[in-house]
Amino acid sequence: MQPKNLICNILSALKRYIIQFGGLSIGNHNFEFHVDDAFFENFEYSEIKEGDVFVDVSLEKQETMLILNFSIKGNVNIICDRCSDFFDLPISTNQQLIVKFGDEDFEETDDIFVIPFNEHKIDLSQLIYEYINLSVPIKRVHPDNKHGNSTCDPEIIKIIEGLSENNSTDNRWDALKKLKNKTK
Ligand SMILES: [Zn+2]
Repeated sequence: MQPKNLICNILSALKRYIIQFGGLSIGNHNFEFHVDDAFFENFEYSEIKEGDVFVDVSLEKQETMLILNFSIKGNVNIICDRCSDFFDLPISTNQQLIVKFGDEDFEETDDIFVIPFNEHKIDLSQLIYEYINLSVPIKRVHPDNKHGNSTCDPEIIKIIEGLSENNSTDNRWDALKKLKNKTK
């Protein structure tokens, strides 16, 4: 990701995720952000449409760089891989980003961004969006309840189990049908 994407084309709804670091003193500063349904609406292809996530950012401003530590915690509403029903998935992640002030030919990585010396603000919305998505596991299923039973939609599970049972017992069904016909 290029730093230009972070700074330019800021949608008004995402303005509150901008940190104006230009006026900050050298040292530590804390910021709190809340991510709600309206946040995800700004990301057209987002799999997550609803969420309730708190983002704490501790920002250390130095002469030549910013060190940002993100602590992200909350719930996102996502579709279950097993029963296709939506459910609230708890997420929690900690991430660190280093923003260096310098020329564009500085080498960038996923964790290090370079922005020009004359820049005085940074938009964190895209980053927060990516961090939230990174914290969502590949396999998303309804959690088990305290008795160790699945909390998936029971109606759907019944149908799915019925389908797989029919497939695996085709031969037995056939045998049963033959038997029935004989006894008629
Ligand atoms: Zn489910």
